[in-house]
Amino acid sequence: MSNATRQFTEKRLVIASHNPGKVREIGELLSPWQIEAVSASELNLPEPEETGDSFVANAKLKADAAALGANLPALADDSGLAVDALDGAPGIYSARWGGEAKDFDAAMARVNTEIGDNPDRRARFVCALALTWPDGHSEVFEGDVRGALVWPPRGAKGFGYDPMFLADGDTGTYGEIDPAQKHENSHRAVAFRALIDACFPPVS
Ligand code: IMP
Repeated sequence: MSNATRQFTEKRLVIASHNPGKVREIGELLSPWQIEAVSASELNLPEPEETGDSFVANAKLKADAAALGANLPALADDSGLAVDALDGAPGIYSARWGGEAKDFDAAMARVNTEIGDNPDRRARFVCALALTWPDGHSEVFEGDVRGALVWPPRGAKGFGYDPMFLADGDTGTYGEIDPAQKHENSHRAVAFRALIDACFPPVS
């Protein structure tokens, strides 16, 4: 979605997230480029409020804040579940539907209740990634994966809404399949491939 022209040539990168799972996943993904990935929490950077009205806007505001705060390039991820029958909800509010307690059993139950007897169970997971340099230049990418929602939720391998999401072509929900299989075709994998193709040199 972005006509990226700037290449990433630096040696250090801030992962603009306080979520250890996301930081680890992104660090692993970047390992072929031998980039030192530091997290926003290691640098004591504040977490900006997610005031954007889209995944891209929220990813960009998180990356911008971290790049400015650390004076280093910063990469941020904003993601969520968009349900067709709910006009895209919970969408950018996916984390907030889990509440303070991050109770995603309750959030999944709410999704299921709000769909009610609507036969349309289609949904997609969306991931936006923003890479911002300290001079304010930014590159933004988005990936999604379509699927259907199942009830009751199945499997305990994933996180968030994974146990109720059956991606098209998969034989189990994201809670049931191997994480490695999820990472091959997930919304995050699609967005990462776009970022890497555009901004990172090929590695042999
Ligand atoms: P963020 O940290 O504001 O981007 O919140 C993303 C929220 O969306 C998470 O708390 C999860 O509930 C949900 N989410 C995003 N990606 C996934 C995924 O891969 N599996 C399950 N839930 C996800």
